[in-house]
Amino acid sequence: MQLKLYDTLTRQKRDFVPLDWELGLPKAERRVRMYVCGPTVYDFAHIGNARPVIVFDVLFRLLRHLYGNDRVVYVRNITDVDDRINARAAELGVAIRELTERTYRDFAEDVQALGCLPPSFEPRATEYIEPMQAMIERLIDQGNAYVAEEHVLFHVPSMPDYGELSKRPLDEMLAGARVEVAPYKRNPMDFVLWKPSKPGEPAWPSPAGIATPGRPGWHIECSAMAWRHLGEMFDIHGGGIDLEFPHHENEIAQSRSAFHTPRMARFWVHNGFLQLEGEKMAKSVGNVVTIRELLKNWNGVGWPGETLRFNMLRTHYHQPMDWTVAGVEESHKILLSWYEDLSPVSVDEMPPPEIVEALCDDLNTPELMTVLHKLKREKQSGSLGASLRFLGFSGDISKLYRTYTLEAGVGQYAVSLPSTVQFSVQRYPNELQEQIAALKEARDRARKEKNFAEADRIRDELKKMHILLKDLKDDTTLEVER
Ligand code: AMP
Ligand code: ZN
Repeated sequence: MQLKLYDTLTRQKRDFVPLDWELGLPKAERRVRMYVCGPTVYDFAHIGNARPVIVFDVLFRLLRHLYGNDRVVYVRNITDVDDRINARAAELGVAIRELTERTYRDFAEDVQALGCLPPSFEPRATEYIEPMQAMIERLIDQGNAYVAEEHVLFHVPSMPDYGELSKRPLDEMLAGARVEVAPYKRNPMDFVLWKPSKPGEPAWPSPAGIATPGRPGWHIECSAMAWRHLGEMFDIHGGGIDLEFPHHENEIAQSRSAFHTPRMARFWVHNGFLQLEGEKMAKSVGNVVTIRELLKNWNGVGWPGETLRFNMLRTHYHQPMDWTVAGVEESHKILLSWYEDLSPVSVDEMPPPEIVEALCDDLNTPELMTVLHKLKREKQSGSLGASLRFLGFSGDISKLYRTYTLEAGVGQYAVSLPSTVQFSVQRYPNELQEQIAALKEARDRARKEKNFAEADRIRDELKKMHILLKDLKDDTTLEVER
């Protein structure tokens, strides 16, 4: 089946053919490569942040289905150097590293609860300073960048195609740039590749012989991490539509100038923005809802992750989306009703072709919903169950796959393990249960005593037993790893 994706750069829905296939590389070497801008880890992720994570998880699953599980390389970065991180760490009185690691762990837990597979790589920006510097040096050597007052700036007029992605008129881009125009810029649109750090701010030795240690600009981080993992040109670059300009435009300018490539990514895929009950989500309005709140307590209800996932997919990824309580309630009801006549043994091996077909049409999830409704109506429960599993629904809310897993063993259908401790840990032999309980107690104690090293050590020990800890505000729960 031919996958079609809407490419923001060409403003066209086009047939997706991965570069390695088009180049006719030997079969064993072919890979599909996808990069998606990930979170800046300074606070809990909100439900808007969950949109690209879920959308690109569905695309990842589809690509794996079409090209083979081991053929798809999906990179989602972690921005762990940023002024917002510095500010938040100072506000909380914790070390930057502690804040970023903790926030990342929370993020990973949240998106796992939403049924998302881990990407192939999750590079942290601070571990890629070297390739960033290499790119910066190259851009300076080639005349695409210059040093001014200890900053390195990308010189926008050196890139004739600048603006090809967002297609904004020059005066509009200029107006945007003027707000923060610095006197040392040769052109108001020039943007930062590297800047000097003040004492106390994270800093690395600067490139280009600049004496003061500094830190990278946000755009070069993504260019460098994508380069290291996916090469000079790759198949898909994704993220929210808010990133189109300037972030993605600048990534393109850096990468294409550095490597002399006709494209950075062959498809630019952007999800629309999500708002809440008809309003833009903003801290200033006080209506930011985190994934964590939704899972634990939102308007008095903690929603199952798969209900939230389902609600997200009812809107086409390209459209703006309004997230509402009423919508989530309705999603929950539909999903429960779909699980109604499913029994573990009735779940088929593979989803029917219409499911893959709907996804191949630029991830047409509303069409997918129509197909699922039809399967339900026609009592094709095996296909319905297989489709839901294919789309990353755990079946937890119906205990459907749980029963199956316990009775028949994991593996055959690659379904999730049960997800609550009461249910699952009891399945461990008695002596193991005691050991798990003792470890949890010791960790609770360590946390109370703020002995985080010991708490982390115990977390790792439990992880070896496939037990995951979830730290909530007042409590810690255990889950069996999927
Ligand atoms: P940030 O941590 O703000 O850099 O955002 C991480 C990802 O979430 C990016 O891909 C953003 O485009 C996306 N994102 C942030 N807010 C929203 C929103 N309200 N709706 C949809 N996507 C969003
Ligand atoms: Zn990025």
